[in-house]
Amino acid sequence: MIVILKSDPNREQLESLIAWLQSKGIIIHTSVGAERTILGLVGDTSQLDMDLIAALDIVEDVKRVQEPYKNANRKFHPEDTVIQVGNAQIGGGSLTLMAGPCSVESEDQVVAIAKAVKASGATMLRGGAFKPRTSPYSFQGLGATGLEYLKVARQETGLPIVTELMDLSQLPLFKDVDVIQIGARNMQNFDLLKAVGHQDKPVMIKRGMSATYEEWLMSAEYVMAGGNENVILCERGIRTFESYTRNTLDLAAIPVLRKLTHLPIIVDPSHATGKSALVAPLAMGAVATGCDGLQIEVHNDPAHALCDGPQSLRPEAFDVLARKLLKLHATVRELEA
Ligand code: PEP
Ligand code: MN
Repeated sequence: MIVILKSDPNREQLESLIAWLQSKGIIIHTSVGAERTILGLVGDTSQLDMDLIAALDIVEDVKRVQEPYKNANRKFHPEDTVIQVGNAQIGGGSLTLMAGPCSVESEDQVVAIAKAVKASGATMLRGGAFKPRTSPYSFQGLGATGLEYLKVARQETGLPIVTELMDLSQLPLFKDVDVIQIGARNMQNFDLLKAVGHQDKPVMIKRGMSATYEEWLMSAEYVMAGGNENVILCERGIRTFESYTRNTLDLAAIPVLRKLTHLPIIVDPSHATGKSALVAPLAMGAVATGCDGLQIEVHNDPAHALCDGPQSLRPEAFDVLARKLLKLHATVRELEA
């Protein structure tokens, strides 16, 4: 249920409404917007008399929220969520460019790529230290050592780091990363979602390969229900009958999510296609469709990459693409203004 307050509500009446709701076991999320304030009520709201609340002097309107996700729902929080990570901003009209290798392979590799992508306009460094691989015989990532190399790259470039947490046991090692990534394969690992909901770093949830929008938003809800409101959604392609591309990029996710949620939306054209030649056109498509940023795999030697070489851009190709993306983003904003 949401309660839309009249502008400048009487303070005493508001406090007494809040106290009464809390006495009924309701948790209240207050969203203060430029125009008006909204109270988002979570809990057993079936016991509340809507008409009684609507009749209060300070209340403009009361609505039931049908969707099972509440905190992630735009009805609860009409203004876009903007997340500040170091010097990078995610959401709020900027274009976040997360770039870097699929996997951290060595200190030299990740530092060199970080420097290159920063020079091209990337605002965050991506890189996997713990890798979810389809085959147990494939490179599994450098683990804790990989996280240390990412931190060296951050120190050298100032780029905040985003890296995947695969298992609860790894969480203590992630104290010093900037954004925790939950991979597609773990989108419904509910214990993992609860754990990252109880810590305060931003969390980026990649869409599960066969997840609906609602299932994906419910995963965001798990994190937010724990108290962590800094959640980012990342569309990375879904499994369809088409096998030419690794996955099928669902660009409709951008306008649909924009309507359903206030959370920032990132698109990953690398895992969506599996082919480096398709990364640029789909990245451009994603920006034209209104995403808040992109996550792109970049490798200095894709032919010898330990993971996902075929979908990785060389730094020179990323440089050309990043410039186009920033121009296109500025144009799209101008057209939408
Ligand atoms: C990744 O970003 O490294 C990754 C494994 O992506 P996904 O979880 O989308 O497959
Ligand atoms: Mn990858």
